[in-house]
Amino acid sequence: MKSLIIGEVSNGTLSSGTLEIITKAQENNLDFKLVVIGTENNPKIGSDTFEVIYVHLSPDELSLSSAADTLVDAIKTDSIELVLASSTYVGRDISGFLSVDLNSSPVANVINFEINGSTLTTTNSIDGGESEYFTNVTSDVKILIIRPKSFEASDVTLSENYTTSSVEKNDLTVNVFDVFIEEKTGPQLEDSKIVISAGRGMVDVGNLKYIEELAGKLNAAIGGTRAIVDAGWMPYSQQVGQTGKTVKPDVYIACGISGATQHQVGMKDSKYIIAINKDEEAPIFQIADLGIVGDTLNIIPKLIENL
Ligand SMILES: Cc1cc2nc3c(=O)[nH]c(=O)nc-3n(C[C@H](O)[C@H](O)[C@H](O)COP(=O)(O)OP(=O)(O)OC[C@H]3O[C@@H](n4cnc5c(N)ncnc54)[C@H](O)[C@@H]3O)c2cc1C
Repeated sequence: MKSLIIGEVSNGTLSSGTLEIITKAQENNLDFKLVVIGTENNPKIGSDTFEVIYVHLSPDELSLSSAADTLVDAIKTDSIELVLASSTYVGRDISGFLSVDLNSSPVANVINFEINGSTLTTTNSIDGGESEYFTNVTSDVKILIIRPKSFEASDVTLSENYTTSSVEKNDLTVNVFDVFIEEKTGPQLEDSKIVISAGRGMVDVGNLKYIEELAGKLNAAIGGTRAIVDAGWMPYSQQVGQTGKTVKPDVYIACGISGATQHQVGMKDSKYIIAINKDEEAPIFQIADLGIVGDTLNIIPKLIENL
């Protein structure tokens, strides 16, 4: 099945979500090319084993709908049957534009897919990951939006072999007045082997200094619940869960987190889960490998001291 992967760049290389999809495509022997959408300033990474095309948006015309027009042309010219995108802002938005132009419903929240001849079946997760359902995708061009961490990213060999393509401005104009790139320092949530997340049980925003100190000792990334993101304790980019990021570290330390289903969806596939909560009935303990019943403000400083 001829395929197109919508790639993204993060931290100077291909994003972990893109690498996961490439790995899956290679394992399934898909005939694919990778398209990376960005500005000319984005770092360029290519490959000797698959075709990589950079689609450039000019800084004053950052319209994804214009990029989608370019992709639609490429999809039609190359008879692409399958488009794979990550469930990110760019992946979801581009899939939406493509679905309109190609008259094909995107299938979202895909955690796996199988191809048998011309039949493509996706596995989708529902009920907070408790249940799965299957979809036979029958449209001419099949558009799948893949949930991050659904596949392992193995080592993908990259090179400087790529081509570029520019975008013609279309009628649907989006005027971008300014672009803010969030400064990213330290281990990143999606890729870190250890994630320490804070919930309302940290009691006060000032107590996040303990989380930062603990993360520093363990070289861990920091996440949080929607409750504390909504309270303004942490930026949205650090939210873990259904409407935030999905993480799958070796160790996830939940500090003062009740373990609502919407939070669990984003972290329950972590290898080991450690939970600190003063309520022994908190749902987080149902999925924890190690549960510590107690006050975060007593336990975390002691943990830091011992480390
Ligand atoms: C559509 C929708 C989408 C959502 N998406 C997300 C999402 O992506 N991510 C997400 O996280 N949530 C999400 N939520 C919200 C979710 O339902 C919960 O409200 C939220 O996860 C709760 O956050 P929390 O655990 O920090 O707070 P709480 O539920 O208030 O839990 C705080 C916990 O801290 C414990 N605690 C209090 N003080 C201490 C102390 N001193 N020491 C130790 N423990 C203490 C309490 O016992 C309690 O268990 C979503 C909700 C909806 C409806």
